[in-house]
Amino acid sequence: MSFAQQPDIGSVYQEMKEKELVERIAGRKKELADDLLILSHHYQHDSLYQFADLTGDSLKLAADAAQIKDKKYLIFCGVHFMAEAADILSAEHQQVILPHLDAGCPMADMSTRAAVETAWTELGTATGVAEEAITPVTYVNSSADVKSFVGEKGGSSCTSSNAEQVLEWALARGELVFFFPDQHLGRNASYALGIAEEQVLLWRRGEPLGGCTLKQLKQARVVLWDGYCEVHMRSFPEHVLAWQAQDPQAKVIVHPECRNEVVRLADISGSTEAIIAAVTASEPGSHWVIGTEINLVNRLSKLHPDKTIHSLTPACLCPTMSAVKPANLLWILDNLAESKVVNQIQVPQDIAVQAKNCLDRMLAI
Ligand code: SF4
Repeated sequence: MSFAQQPDIGSVYQEMKEKELVERIAGRKKELADDLLILSHHYQHDSLYQFADLTGDSLKLAADAAQIKDKKYLIFCGVHFMAEAADILSAEHQQVILPHLDAGCPMADMSTRAAVETAWTELGTATGVAEEAITPVTYVNSSADVKSFVGEKGGSSCTSSNAEQVLEWALARGELVFFFPDQHLGRNASYALGIAEEQVLLWRRGEPLGGCTLKQLKQARVVLWDGYCEVHMRSFPEHVLAWQAQDPQAKVIVHPECRNEVVRLADISGSTEAIIAAVTASEPGSHWVIGTEINLVNRLSKLHPDKTIHSLTPACLCPTMSAVKPANLLWILDNLAESKVVNQIQVPQDIAVQAKNCLDRMLAI
């Protein structure tokens, strides 16, 4: 699926002072309160996050969108795949809006349906494993199109909190698991389940047989797409070792989109929600070093002044998430006030049906 280009919102919005933006957004929120729900991902900057009615990681927000039926407009301060999931799970009378259409997820874009389908066929032919014995698993950070392929083939989506559970289910279902788009989440889940390293292969896009030998593929149990999150890839084992030397009492907690060498060295690995829960539940005076997006780390640090909180690496800003600014939100709200819906994200029905199967299967697991 391709997305429309972000319209120019004009200099009036772009040059508006923060105080005016805050007042006008608050005013519009009041005016539209009966119809409006603003959802914000934890990685958004506080200047936008402050307007959210609901906050969470991608799955929690999509699940929230599925529960709340009395709001007509769901404004999703996040990236494309999140808004798509919200649209798939929300009711027909609800409209999902993304404040900035350039807010995609580079990792989700690393696997298109066409590329996954081609690789899937190649994998089956090379290994001789029947199609129904290859179970596709896609991280929720993927397009609706990719999810619909997975839904069609009897596979499931997973999140960073249930990847191990879903992988276990998939391994029990057939002979081989094809996991995309995040190689690191797939590798970390395989490692946690104790699958031998030589049975977990990386499928390199554009290379014959994904860059693997026939022999390697025949003994594989999990084949990983070579996608990655550029934000979490900025963490290296050296960062963990440096913090462990600098602050030995600190607990290092990292997101499972980090490379396996980082996860192995850290004290804890967990999803965005798990990171928040661990820091929140810790004793006053606790020390934390957190390996995830910087806006979340900064917020946790502000919320817990009684704890010492550092970012594992200083430069972990998600560039697409931060494309969404308060000015974009105000532009959306001003349009809604005139009953105009702009930047709506609508997944075509034929794609939505199978993509929903993919998401529902995960919820059932
Ligand atoms: S943090 Fe990574 S996975 Fe999340 S939206 Fe940004 S690029 Fe995508």
